[in-house]
Amino acid sequence: MAEEIRRCEDAGVDWIHYDVMDGHFVEQISYGTPILRSVKKCTSRPLDVHLMVERPDQQAEYFAEAGADIIDIHLESSCDIGACLKRIRKLGKTPALAVKPNTPIEDAYPYLPLCDMVLVMTVEPGYGGQGFIPDMLTKVRALREYADNNGFPSLNIQVDGGINENTGADAKRAGANVLVAGTGLFYASDMKAVNTALKGTL
Ligand code: ZN
Repeated sequence: MAEEIRRCEDAGVDWIHYDVMDGHFVEQISYGTPILRSVKKCTSRPLDVHLMVERPDQQAEYFAEAGADIIDIHLESSCDIGACLKRIRKLGKTPALAVKPNTPIEDAYPYLPLCDMVLVMTVEPGYGGQGFIPDMLTKVRALREYADNNGFPSLNIQVDGGINENTGADAKRAGANVLVAGTGLFYASDMKAVNTALKGTL
């Protein structure tokens, strides 16, 4: 993993996005805090920790302590979302709110005062390598328009899932400014070229 992180750094990525899956909120299980702690030692890039877990309120503090810089919690998880976002801020970390493809984006609007970023899932969470859902661009567009018109012009809008040069450019046109790429980068024959192209769309 250290070698792959080095490869990302050499390719010029800005953040490392770390997907946490608990086997409940999504079927899969991925990594926990011990691996995050190891990742933290490998890089000085900000660690963007996407908690696909049922109870982020019980987990956020552990991930903060293990080295997360940004903590994304899901609107669909089972906790008091507002309280959890506030707690993340209080821990000195950047709070972010993630929404699954079937969740109306309007449900995120009440939380914009409490978070610095909204993560729009552009695939169903839980598995890598899925195709980008084009309807999600409508959500990104609506969110950017709402944020601009309601006093949140600096809101980061992140898209996660199925991002490549084409979908990345579409997402950017719709108003996204943070692109998460997994398969699109790691399986590219030239990671740097893909990263440069993705950043060129921003
Ligand atoms: Zn993610």
